[in-house]
Amino acid sequence: MKKVTRTDIPLSLKNNADRWTKQLLQEIQLRGGWSQVPKSLREKYKQPDVKKALEQMYKGKCCYCENGIGVESYEQIEHLKPKSLPPFHHLTYDWNNLHWCCSRCNQAKRDQWNDSYPIVDPTTEDPEQYITFDVVTGEVIALHPRGETTIQHADLNREKLVQSRNKVGDFVRELIFQLKRTESQLDIDFYRGRIVKFADEDAEFSSFIKQLINTYL
Ligand SMILES: [Zn+2]
Repeated sequence: MKKVTRTDIPLSLKNNADRWTKQLLQEIQLRGGWSQVPKSLREKYKQPDVKKALEQMYKGKCCYCENGIGVESYEQIEHLKPKSLPPFHHLTYDWNNLHWCCSRCNQAKRDQWNDSYPIVDPTTEDPEQYITFDVVTGEVIALHPRGETTIQHADLNREKLVQSRNKVGDFVRELIFQLKRTESQLDIDFYRGRIVKFADEDAEFSSFIKQLINTYL
């Protein structure tokens, strides 16, 4: 999980969010609940410009697990504060509540919400204050109760995810090992150049790799 800067509100939301929200809240009241409202009124946020803005904002990666989206899972527009819960219905079309998420994190999180220790918002907070990585096992460790919520709700230590994280980690560890073995400045520069690319902000699991580099290099 990585801090990102929220970009400007997409035009479709800027022009329609207030009207869509008003209509949605009226329908929820009229029909007696969220689930009674047709999807067409609940899912107007699925606009091409919203998807594009979120994808760019998160560099094509899941806001929770930093997996590259689109290869092994479909992208989903994520409502950090679950839109189906009554206190958050009004945030269905709120740009500040929208994030970019892989289907696996999305399925894990569903409509879970912890009022005392809410999940960390990577657009307004620095996840590094709440979670860190065990550089040996590749697992995420909580530094704060809100980090614990984040790990649990997005299932950040699921087996397949830890394996994928470690696969990239092993590759980087090997490059660091090679770098430390050589005395040739040319080789050192070569390995260093390759290693830092794995910590680029658009690289998968870059937070984990950044920590690996800080620990071993
Ligand atoms: Zn994910």
